[in-house]
Amino acid sequence: MTPVDSVLSLVRPDILALSAYSSARKEAKGGRVWLDANENPETPSAHQPLLNRYPEPQPADLVAQLAALYSVQPAQCLVTRGSDEGIDLLLRTFCRAAQDAILFTPPTYGMYVVAAGIQGARTVTVPLIREKNFALDAAAVLKAVGPEVKLVFLCSPNNPTGGLLDRAAVLSVVKALATRAVVVVDEAYVDFSGQPSLAAEIPSNPNLVVLRTLSKAFGLAGARVGTTIADPAVIAVLQKVIAPYPVATPVLQAALAAITPAGLAAARESVAAIVAERARLAAALAKLPAVKKVWPSDANYLLVEVADSAKAMAAGRAAGVVWRDRSKDVPNSIRLTIGTPAENTATLEALQALVVY
Ligand code: PMP
Repeated sequence: MTPVDSVLSLVRPDILALSAYSSARKEAKGGRVWLDANENPETPSAHQPLLNRYPEPQPADLVAQLAALYSVQPAQCLVTRGSDEGIDLLLRTFCRAAQDAILFTPPTYGMYVVAAGIQGARTVTVPLIREKNFALDAAAVLKAVGPEVKLVFLCSPNNPTGGLLDRAAVLSVVKALATRAVVVVDEAYVDFSGQPSLAAEIPSNPNLVVLRTLSKAFGLAGARVGTTIADPAVIAVLQKVIAPYPVATPVLQAALAAITPAGLAAARESVAAIVAERARLAAALAKLPAVKKVWPSDANYLLVEVADSAKAMAAGRAAGVVWRDRSKDVPNSIRLTIGTPAENTATLEALQALVVY
């Protein structure tokens, strides 16, 4: 069996056997008069002349530009409604309800367990090692992967703790599981880390899947544009499962604008500003009496341990500043997104006002 065949053997057999729905826009080639998709011949919007038409299922220009942005091949990319849709598609493609499982490493992003729950997949957990700055316990992960585990979700930088997982440790897990499980590395925040993506490792490791998004560094959370990067054979299977037209035309236009040279320059500037503010905020927070620990962050947020997270959240509310209480993940911890300098100063002032007994 080739390495790619071993990965495909992990796919749900019924999905492998499924013939994909073939939409009108997929089949259409050329033509002048489009009467194949039961569309309305008139558009309601003078500003958006193509809104009466279904979009391309995977717009070729966007796929090509995202592939260039991520230094991969277009055939390795699937554009999704945020990277959240990538997580959901992977669950539905690889996990049979009540039989298969995912493995994830708490404390981490909450959607893995939710997507597993929706699909009826079971979950296996291997906690990150808190004493080692929430490091990946690669040996424990490998020990915990039984035949039921089809997907291993690793989040790097990890949400909510903020740190990158060690690249060599992640790759060791990918390689050790080459024929046994797909390893999904969620890189939603990697743009803030200054470190290279793991996507370059996919050609030599077809069981590796990388998730990227325009929601964070590119400021397009409202547009919903994620990219699942994988071996072309895996992308072809995911294509069977994704909804027919996931990239709405206004979304396509917003995404294309964001990755023009001017858009890329703006994103780079925005990331640099956020990274600089992250350092300022982390240093200032560490000096506050209410703050017990600021975890090192490679992302656009800081996980901060406080004396009492409920009181801290209340102090934020009183100042009109909204953070995220992550105490269920790490006791008495709040996650602060890095905002504008003025917004970060509001965070500092609200926590400064917090009286510690
Ligand atoms: N992965 C991680 C780790 C996240 O924190 C988020 C956003 N909260 C996502 C994926 C999903 O992001 P999006 O769907 O906007 O791409």
